[in-house]
Amino acid sequence: MAKVSKKSKHRLRTERRYAAASIANWIVPTAGALSALVMGAGTYAQLLRPAEATPIAAAPWLLAGGALGLAGAIWFGGPRAAIRVGDAGLAIERGGALQRMPWYAITSVSVSGDALIAEGKDDTGANCTLRVSRTKDVNVAGRIAAEASARIPNVVNLGDEGFGYDEQAGDIVNLEPLHLAGRRCTASATAIAFESDARLCPKCERVYHHAHLPAECACGAALSG
Ligand SMILES: [Zn+2]
Repeated sequence: MAKVSKKSKHRLRTERRYAAASIANWIVPTAGALSALVMGAGTYAQLLRPAEATPIAAAPWLLAGGALGLAGAIWFGGPRAAIRVGDAGLAIERGGALQRMPWYAITSVSVSGDALIAEGKDDTGANCTLRVSRTKDVNVAGRIAAEASARIPNVVNLGDEGFGYDEQAGDIVNLEPLHLAGRRCTASATAIAFESDARLCPKCERVYHHAHLPAECACGAALSG
C-alpha cells in the first residue's frame, strides 16, 4: 500500500484567472477613447490656440477631466485586468494589484439585472464589491455562482437563475500555501502559534485552532480534526 506522505495532507490550492471582458474590453474602448478625445480638445484649446483667440474658460477642466478619465481607463482596463475565482475566494486584479475577498468574508452573492454581485470584505477588512456582467463575462459569472453555491450556500441568493458556463475556461493558477501561524481561531480567538495547530475549513478557508474545532464551520461545512 502506498504511504501517504505528510506533504499530501496539504491540498494544492488553485484558482482560475479570467481576463474580464466587461472591464478590460468594454471600458477601455469607450472610456479610453472618449477621454483621449476630450483631453485632445482640452490640450488644443489650452495650449495650441492662436494667441489672438479668446481663451476658452472650460479648457483646464476639459484637460483635467480628460486626464482623469484616461487614468481611470488605464487603471480599470490595463491588459492585466482580470478576475480570479478559486480556493482563496474571489480576487480582482488590476494593473498588477490584487484585491482578494476570501470566501468566509463574503456576506452576499446575488443578481441584479445583468450583474452578478458579490459583496463582503477583502483580506485587509475593507468593504469590497465585485460586479460581473452575466452576458459579457459568462464564464466568470458562472464559476462564481457555482463555487459560491457549493462553498458558502448560506449567503448565496440566486433564486432560480441559470448560470451555464464553460468549466474549462480560464487559466489555472497555483496559489501559495497559506501561512496560518499568527492567525486567530474563528471559534475561540485563540492565537495559532504553530502551523500544525491550525485547521482550515476546506470550503470557506476559515481558520480554527485544533483544540477549538467545532463540528460545523460557520459556512455550514462539516469539520473533522
Ligand atoms: Zn467553512
